[in-house]
Amino acid sequence: MSLIKTTGGCYCGNIRYGFTTEPRLTANCHCNNCRKAIGAQSVAWTIVNKSSFQWIKGEPTRYKTDTEAHRTFCPDCGSSLTYEAVGRTDEIDITTGSLDNPEDFPPTKDAYLKYRLPWVEMT
Ligand SMILES: [Zn+2]
Ligand SMILES: [Zn+2]
Repeated sequence: MSLIKTTGGCYCGNIRYGFTTEPRLTANCHCNNCRKAIGAQSVAWTIVNKSSFQWIKGEPTRYKTDTEAHRTFCPDCGSSLTYEAVGRTDEIDITTGSLDNPEDFPPTKDAYLKYRLPWVEMT
């Protein structure tokens, strides 16, 4: 059994998760799908191996998007937690803002820049 290195969770604390490895990638996404789903101008993601990720407490709501991806959020407070794309079955994207220590996971690139709102600064 590998030890959980990093933890996070929703605003109200009913949903908690953790992962055991270093992230594969961190990115700030400007796509309009993330923007609308999460209600923020851009969304920082921390991407990890799915096998290293686990839910520790509670069960998030799973929502299937029109692009066949799955987003999860807390059914009580609504915090957006994860994103799983169809084409990337072995990884899971975690909202960096829901991590307990988001300052340790700065985005290293911008994604979907063509959708960036003109007033949003880049990484
Ligand atoms: Zn919650
Ligand atoms: Zn996006």
